Amino acid sequence: MSSYPLLKINTKAIRYNLKAILQKLNQWKLRPVAITKGFCADLPLVRLFLEEGITCFGDSNPSNLLKIKRFFSCKNDLQLYLIRLPMNSEIQLIIDNNLIPFVSNIETLKSLNYIAHKEAKIQKVILAIEGGDAREGFLEEELLNDFDFNTLKHIDIIGLGTTLACLNGVLPDLEIVNQLVNLKKQLERKLNRELILSVGGTTFLELWERNPLPEGIDEIRMGEAFLFGHDMSRKEAFSWLSQDTFEISAEIVEIKKKQPLWKKARGFDAFGESSTSLLDGGKKKRALLAIGKQDIDENQLYPKDKNVTIVGATSNYLVLDLSKSSRDYKVGDKLNFRAGYGAVLRAFLSPYVSKIYL
Ligand SMILES: *Cc1c(COP(=O)(O)O)cnc(C)c1O
Repeated sequence: MSSYPLLKINTKAIRYNLKAILQKLNQWKLRPVAITKGFCADLPLVRLFLEEGITCFGDSNPSNLLKIKRFFSCKNDLQLYLIRLPMNSEIQLIIDNNLIPFVSNIETLKSLNYIAHKEAKIQKVILAIEGGDAREGFLEEELLNDFDFNTLKHIDIIGLGTTLACLNGVLPDLEIVNQLVNLKKQLERKLNRELILSVGGTTFLELWERNPLPEGIDEIRMGEAFLFGHDMSRKEAFSWLSQDTFEISAEIVEIKKKQPLWKKARGFDAFGESSTSLLDGGKKKRALLAIGKQDIDENQLYPKDKNVTIVGATSNYLVLDLSKSSRDYKVGDKLNFRAGYGAVLRAFLSPYVSKIYL
C-alpha cells in the first residue's frame, strides 16, 4: 500500500525521452551529459540513463555523485562532473573520488593542484566560462591573460563549460556559440592541447533544431529535457518528447465553503508574502490537501482535473478551489497533479513524500 503524498515516476515516458534525445544528439555528434540534481541522483533513474548508454553524469552536490559512484563503480568509463563550483572543504573529496569539478578561479585551481600534488595524482577539471548569463565562470580576459595554466603540474584542463538561462534567463544564440568556439580555439593554442566545449542546460537543445551550428561544441548537459520534455527558459514543451513523466498524488483532508475576511486589515502570509488570492469572490468550495511547500513548489503543479485551481500553499497544506469542478470530491480522495521541475526536485528532497517507479 502506498502512503501519501506520493510521487509517481513514469519510467516508460522518461526512457522514451532519453531515446528520442540521444538519437538526435547522435546525429549532431554531441555527447550527452545527464544532470541528476533534479532527482537527487535517485538510483533507479540513474540506472535507466546508464542502460540507455549515458556514461557522464553531472550534479551540483558531491554526495549525489558519490552515490552514483558507489553503486555503479563497475562502469569504468563513468565520468562524474561536479557542476557547482567547489567549496574549499570539498577539494580533498574531489581528488579522492576523481570527480571532475567546474572551476572558475585560479585560487581553487591552485588548491586543487596543491592537494593533487600531495596525493601524487593528476586532477581533471573543466574551466567554467561566463557565457552571458552572469552566473558562474571565468571572464574571457582572465583566461587569455598571461597566467600560465601549464605551471599547475597536477591539473589536467580537459575543457570549457558554459551555462545559460539559469539566473537571468539569457538565451543562447549563434553569436554566443561562435564566441565560445572561438574562445576554445584560442585557449587550445595557449595551452597547446585539445579541449572539449561543454554547454548546458536544456536551453541549448533548441539551437540545434533551428540552426546548422559551427563545429566545436562537443557535449550538452541537460536535466529538464530528459526528465520533463520541456524547456523552462522558453516555457515550451518539446512536441517530440513526453511531458507525462512525473505525477504527484495528495489526499484531501478538508472540504468546506470558505472566504477570508476580506474587509479586515491584512498583513502577510506565513512566508512573509502578501497574498495574491482573490478575497471577495464570495464563499468558494475549497479543499485542503496534506502536502505543502515543504514537499512541492505549488507553482509547478498542474491539476489533472482541469476545473480545479490552486489557491495557494503553506508549509504543509495545499489549498484548492473546487467550485468549478463537477466531480463530487470527498475527504480522503486523492487528487493527481502533473509535476514540473521545481515540484519534483522538492518531492525528492522531502522525507514526507513516498516515491514509486512505474
Ligand atoms: C542545472 C544545470 C544544468 C542542467 O540544466 P537543465 O535546464 O536542467 O537542463 C547544466 N549545467 C549546469 C552547470 C547546471 O547547473
